[in-house]
Amino acid sequence: ISSKLPNAGTSIFSIMSAWAHEHKAVNLAQGFPDFDCHPELVRLTHHYMQKGMNQYAPSAGILPLRERIAEKTAHTYGFSPDPATEVTLTTGATEALFVAISALVQEGDEVIVFEPAYDAYIPVIELNGGKAVPIALERNTYAINWHQVKEALTPQTRLIIINTPHNPSGSVLKPHDITELTEIVMNHDLLLISDEVYEHIIFDGVTHQSMLLYPILREKSIVISSFGKTFHNTGWKMGYAIAPPEITVELRKLHQYVTFSNFTPAQYALVDFMAETKHYTSLPEFYQERRDKFRSLMQATDFELLPCQGTYFQLVSYAHLSSEPDVVYAKRIAKEAGVATIPTSVFYTDKLDRKVVRFCFAKQDETMERAVELLVKNA
Ligand code: PMP
Ligand code: GLN
Repeated sequence: ISSKLPNAGTSIFSIMSAWAHEHKAVNLAQGFPDFDCHPELVRLTHHYMQKGMNQYAPSAGILPLRERIAEKTAHTYGFSPDPATEVTLTTGATEALFVAISALVQEGDEVIVFEPAYDAYIPVIELNGGKAVPIALERNTYAINWHQVKEALTPQTRLIIINTPHNPSGSVLKPHDITELTEIVMNHDLLLISDEVYEHIIFDGVTHQSMLLYPILREKSIVISSFGKTFHNTGWKMGYAIAPPEITVELRKLHQYVTFSNFTPAQYALVDFMAETKHYTSLPEFYQERRDKFRSLMQATDFELLPCQGTYFQLVSYAHLSSEPDVVYAKRIAKEAGVATIPTSVFYTDKLDRKVVRFCFAKQDETMERAVELLVKNA
């Protein structure tokens, strides 16, 4: 049949997880923690299943959970979105991205995307008849070149997709980026999708530059987050979108036909859990320790470590170790050294090899130690 996504193949995350499994490699490829979420979350979900909260939830999510999200947002960014009209629960950030892009992009619209780009943006733009306009982040620093962004703007530019902290590079937006973005938003008729799933995974005391901090930006933004990243439960596939009421109306129209609603018992569990603890405030410290541990272990290898300011990913260059293209290299070290990584060329439209691979460090000490030991011996 004729494909609606002729340029898309199987996601690299599925490919590398399967490859890791096949070769019994330590999986530092797909991003997920190898430790469990808080036992209280599991207990509460079980409790609500037993209590019979097993039917459809309201499409936008149960109101008390949207209220908790609003409280968390107020606590973190000093802005309290209206739970009734500005907060929508989705099946992971992935669904939020899908409905946001689909609701906003029309045939012929242009969308600026920074590369390396998370793999769920461009296919959805194209599915909706839009044109992705990729802009490469600066080499090594992965900062945005605003001059290039301004050059790329046209009357057809409908959206800019921001991702901070950035997957895969771990770079984060700085205050000067906000100044540039504000100027663009004030002078052009466009909207922002801000993928902030790693909002609480940011290091060295740096403040996460959420669009929600800035009134001019948040009026034009759909801000997307993921409980999976924040509560160590990626398999629950729960996320949400915060957007002004007139945009939220459009998101919800799509959301009701994509999934209608989310797993009900977990919504009640999160309401209780979020009332009791501000667990997310400990995440920067928690993951900074993981990052520092991983980086210090990796000193024993010959990889060149790139900077990592946020997310649970560490990029490394292997340019001086091998001339193989990154996909070939990643597959070989998974097979021969027993450690799976993600090649980064897949996050670029040009698919060019830059000899950079990504490791996930959302792992227990033993997992990291074992992985690095294998890399030292065999990579
Ligand atoms: N955006 C980015 C940048 C991500 O890294 C991820 C998860 N890997 C997602 C979106 C999707 O999040 P979720 O698992 O909640 O769908
Ligand atoms: N976001 C995760 C990553 O970057 C993977 C999500 C997925 O498997 N689709 O590794």
